Amino acid sequence: MQYSSRLLELLVDEFAKLPGIGRKSALRMAFYILRRPAEDVLPLSVAIRDVKEKVTECTVCGNISEESVCLICRDPKRKTEVICVVENPVDVVAIERTSTFKGLYHVLGGAISPLDGVGPDDLRIAALLARVEENGVEEVIVATSAASAGEATAHYIAERLSSSGVTVSRIARGIPMGSDLEFADQVTLQKALEGRRRVE
Ligand code: ZN
Repeated sequence: MQYSSRLLELLVDEFAKLPGIGRKSALRMAFYILRRPAEDVLPLSVAIRDVKEKVTECTVCGNISEESVCLICRDPKRKTEVICVVENPVDVVAIERTSTFKGLYHVLGGAISPLDGVGPDDLRIAALLARVEENGVEEVIVATSAASAGEATAHYIAERLSSSGVTVSRIARGIPMGSDLEFADQVTLQKALEGRRRVE
C-alpha cells in the first residue's frame, strides 16, 4: 500500500510500535489525531515528552519519581515499618489499585534469572538490605511474581534477611502461576496480600 503523506505513515509506524497495537489500530489512531483539533491531541505529545524528560528513579525505593524521593516514600501517612518488594514499577501500580497496602515499596528492577544473565547484583537487592538494616523495618513482604525467577528472588531475599530479625513474608498464591502482578485483578491481589505467609 502507498500513503499519500509520509508524515502520516511515520505516525502510523510509531503507533504500531506500541505494545498491543496492530497496524490497523495504529492507522485508526493516526487518522483520529489528524481529524481532531490540535489542542485536543497535542497534550499527548507533551505528556510523552514530559515523562521521558522529567521522570526518573526514586533513590530510596527505585520506583518512578519526578524528584529524588518519590511521593509514596515522602508520604508521612505510609507505614515505614513494612516494605513490599516488587519486580517492577508497574507492580506498585497494581498493588496501589487494591488500596489495602499502606507500607512502603522497594522496586528491584527485575528478578534473578541466571539463564537471562540476571544475578542479585543486577537488581536493587543490596539497597533493600541496607534499607532494612537502617530504618527500623519489621516486615518485608516479597511480592515478586510466581514465575520461577520471582520465586528464586524471594528465596534469595529471605535467605539474606534470615539473620536480620525482620519477618519475611511471601504473598499467597491467589496469583496464577507464572503470571505477573499487573495482570491480576484487584480482589485476587488483595487476597494474595492478606493471605501472605511467613517465609521460614
Ligand atoms: Zn520511593
